[in-house]
Amino acid sequence: MSITTTIESSILNSLRKAQQDYLRHSNGQRLNTWHVSDFVSECLRKTYYGKTYPEKFAPEKASIFFLGHVVHEHTPLSKINELTMCYDIERDRSVTPEEVMSLPYNDLGSIITGTLDDLVKVGDTFVIADKKTYNGGGYYKKTSPDKSYELQLNIYRVLLNAAYGINAEYGCLLYLDKKNNLDPTPIAFELQPVNDTKKKMKEILKELRTGDPKPNPCWLCNGANKKGEIYCSYLDVCKQEGRPDE
Ligand code: SF4
Repeated sequence: MSITTTIESSILNSLRKAQQDYLRHSNGQRLNTWHVSDFVSECLRKTYYGKTYPEKFAPEKASIFFLGHVVHEHTPLSKINELTMCYDIERDRSVTPEEVMSLPYNDLGSIITGTLDDLVKVGDTFVIADKKTYNGGGYYKKTSPDKSYELQLNIYRVLLNAAYGINAEYGCLLYLDKKNNLDPTPIAFELQPVNDTKKKMKEILKELRTGDPKPNPCWLCNGANKKGEIYCSYLDVCKQEGRPDE
């Protein structure tokens, strides 16, 4: 192997290690509760499998997550950012992260945790803002919010209201195109009434607790996405357990 090849390989390894160390450090301690991302997946069976058969973090995937983390860490949009909130869905009350950590495992089943990116005040209106990186390639721009992200912000509204009594009536997704210098596209929308979202959260919790949530074959597992990839690692087990063909 030539010296230049050795150097390139060494530099690449150092970069990979730096990315992995950064992600490990920035992920912090994940609370042992439901997470908002569990509730907004297009397929609740995938969420269920993720809890039942947790995947190990694959080091080769570090670079996929790296940019998103760096963007979040270095672009606070307001003084209130990276706000972690916990909420007990059944008891309809806020819980602090410290309380959650002291609760026995069996009491965590109806608690959901989420961290909103930024709480911004525009005039008299509170807005929950969230940054999302995507591959637009400079020619494709987002024009409407993704449904799952919309639900994510609606759930944050519930958590925020329970924890701080703040009523955020609007959400704004700030899409950043990774392939075009993080070109920004903000998309604002009115959030759902808190009680409607609470009802939906109860329904999702109920479905997850059945131990056999309905499969939802979709772009996650049918290859119907821009890259033609399978994003669900549970396709085999799901098929064995009756995933219907579309
Ligand atoms: S294979 Fe499809 S239907 Fe099954 S869990 Fe994964 S995403 Fe859901």
